[in-house]
Amino acid sequence: MTSRPTTVEGTSAPVEVAGGIDAEAAIDELVGALDLEDKVRLLTGATSWRMYPDDRIGLRSVAVSDGTVGVRGTGEKPGETSLLFPSPSALSATWDTSLASRLGTLFAAEARRHGIDVVLAPQVNLQRTPVGGRHFECYSEDPLLTSQVAGHVIAAMQASGVGACIKHFVANDSETARTEYVAHVDERTLREVYLAPFEHAVREVGVWTVMAAYNQIDDDVMAAPATEHTHLLRDVLKDEWGFDGVVLSDWLATRRTVESANGGLDLVMPGPGGPWEAHLLAAVHAGQVDEAVIDDKVRRLLRLALRVGALARLAPEPTPPATDPALLRELAARATVVLRDEDHQLPLDPAVVRRVALIGPNAFEAFVQGGGSAHVVAEHVVGPAEGLRVALPGAEVTVLRGGDARRHAPDLDVPGRARDPRTGEPGLRISAVDAAGTVLTSRVETDWDGWQRELPDEVATVRIETTVHLFEPGEHWLGLGTVGMWTFEVDGRTVARGDRRVGSEVVLDSSVNSPDDEPVVVLVDRPRTVEIRATLQSIRAEGYGNFARGILRHRRPGPSIDDEIATAVEAAARADLVLVVVGTNDEVESEGWDRTSLALPGHQDELVARVLAVAPDAVVVVNAGAPILLPWLESARSVLWTWFPGEECGNALADVLFGVTEPAGRLPWTLPARMADVPVPHAQPNRDGVLEYSEGVHVGYRGWERDGGTPAAAFGHGLGWTSWQYDDVSIAERTAEQAVLRVDVTNIGPRRGTEIVQIYLEAPADHVLDRPVRWLAGFAAVQAGAGERVTATVRVARRAFEVWDVVAHRWVLPAGTYRLRVGRSVRDLRLAIEIDPTT
Ligand code: BGC
Repeated sequence: MTSRPTTVEGTSAPVEVAGGIDAEAAIDELVGALDLEDKVRLLTGATSWRMYPDDRIGLRSVAVSDGTVGVRGTGEKPGETSLLFPSPSALSATWDTSLASRLGTLFAAEARRHGIDVVLAPQVNLQRTPVGGRHFECYSEDPLLTSQVAGHVIAAMQASGVGACIKHFVANDSETARTEYVAHVDERTLREVYLAPFEHAVREVGVWTVMAAYNQIDDDVMAAPATEHTHLLRDVLKDEWGFDGVVLSDWLATRRTVESANGGLDLVMPGPGGPWEAHLLAAVHAGQVDEAVIDDKVRRLLRLALRVGALARLAPEPTPPATDPALLRELAARATVVLRDEDHQLPLDPAVVRRVALIGPNAFEAFVQGGGSAHVVAEHVVGPAEGLRVALPGAEVTVLRGGDARRHAPDLDVPGRARDPRTGEPGLRISAVDAAGTVLTSRVETDWDGWQRELPDEVATVRIETTVHLFEPGEHWLGLGTVGMWTFEVDGRTVARGDRRVGSEVVLDSSVNSPDDEPVVVLVDRPRTVEIRATLQSIRAEGYGNFARGILRHRRPGPSIDDEIATAVEAAARADLVLVVVGTNDEVESEGWDRTSLALPGHQDELVARVLAVAPDAVVVVNAGAPILLPWLESARSVLWTWFPGEECGNALADVLFGVTEPAGRLPWTLPARMADVPVPHAQPNRDGVLEYSEGVHVGYRGWERDGGTPAAAFGHGLGWTSWQYDDVSIAERTAEQAVLRVDVTNIGPRRGTEIVQIYLEAPADHVLDRPVRWLAGFAAVQAGAGERVTATVRVARRAFEVWDVVAHRWVLPAGTYRLRVGRSVRDLRLAIEIDPTT
């Protein structure tokens, strides 16, 4: 007899369970089949990226993977590559939820292609300060835009049977002292700003997993690490919002056993090891943690397993969606923000372009993704030069760096310069050495990426030996980028050393990602060789194994930055299309540290100013994730902001320049003109380790609106390829839950385009509450041809009007007449309408 499948109503996509049984009952039965030891085992990762299987209950291992710009995979398959997406801030710059949904589906397709069940994305922390190292991984400085974009990504991903993991819960908005600081956020700010995207993802979208952050939170109810925060994890997330999924820890974030287990954490990552396992078992035996608490965690894990298809006996693995890699090019182009376009100089006619000067450090080496755990290995990245050469087959494209913008020298060209000192064959001799100095293994590597992973426990140091050929006369710089205890010898002499032994903390503070060096200068008058010997500490980091990190760096003699700029300026004067691509790099924007300056690194401001002096029509392209001060902005006729565009970088740039795709992006954050105006200019905790969120609800543009400063470009700004007239706004529908507005706009420009209609709310003047001057309440993307009029339908939810009442601890709707301002950015408001949401 076959019985009809029954449906479980989770908070999200229901899972169909074969056999006519209720899914929750089936899960209970499985939990009942496990003894305490089995159950506790399941609650710590089996590896860095996997959970434990259990054959007795038909559970296969659930695999997770970073991250926010693509799906990297578990690292089990050597040479694995991934589609490299435009970064999250680029996606939110489209303000287009249909693109977010398409990207969510692509996430799911990539996840299944890599054997992944849960993607550790999206990151819904807010861009509280422009210096935040992971700014590029976040969506916006506004909670509503973040919620909407992330919500569509999550919904589409999960509709395809792949779990999303929103992170990092909560107030993990900067990197300085990131595993230690205590974010002190008042209750109202937490609810209205920082918790808002999480609440949306849980209640409206039904996200399956949440990652508890590294930092601690003092929400005026309790001060505790995010992995132990009973109030936020249990009372708010699980009890109040009804979250039925898994709370997993950020990597190595869990410290204490009983507090985290009782505090609401469900899964410790990575594993094996860490504070649960046998410690948790002992705590249950000692009566410090109730077995019912363990059962609840296991039930959540199995619910997740059921959703992703890891309990095949109950429900099959969902069919993967079709992949849509063409989206990446479209998205990178659509996300591009036109900051300036005097006299509609852009787009350009490719037929008239003969000689292109492509200038700038980021033209030479585009920065297509930020640094840190989000990093993926792309199969091929189309750089700006390749993109332009394909789009302009008849033109001559000259690429000139215009000066190095990096602090560190490039990686040593191993195949070209390095030889094994013993055999003379190309490469580096890498030896693993034990504490007694015995060489355990030794081999020659030509494609050393600076990491030696999975070293056996007995390895104490790793030695790199090589003979380096220095051909060019002049100053050569040699250095070793590493952390911990190390020595660097050149021709038998120790020229630099580090004496501090390090452990897991270097993984958490990310200093291993872009380690500093102490370069030595070798003067060369005729070709010669130098013998290099570097000795590195092997680092034991629980959950990451035993590893060593050391990059050999080399800068050869070459033109000075001044000379490079002069050459670029000369080329600019002769070209008929000048493109200057400036921006940041992985030394600047990365997980693990915050920026200390918003200036472009190196001498890039000088480069732009000098090129503009000889080529005023030059198009300036800013390749960066987070805000940068652009002192030359007003003197440039055309300025584009292209984000971290992912693998289609060059093609997307060509599509934008030559009119194939409209760069319809709008800033999801405020671009300052001066550092002094920035409402939250740094993220340095005070002496007690507390990071005071003293600006309260006035985050991002709300702070600018309160202070009245003039930014270089306002939140929501972006010109696109056409111009818009705002004709009329009316209220189409009113219910207790929402108001639906109709906004008529006319495309009065020369070409078809996309308009992002933005609605900002202003509270009644007599409100005593400290509300922002105005805040984003809704938005919609519409398209229209030249001369065409269209109507945007924008939903403004009741929640947009509401305030968190800190006495009653609930949302309230203050009565009165609110103004809804309609426009193109928070500083370009064209229409208004009034509404009393309580009547
Ligand atoms: C990051 C997370 C990431 C995890 C796993 C952590 O350092 O904060 O965002 O998902 O590592 O790579």
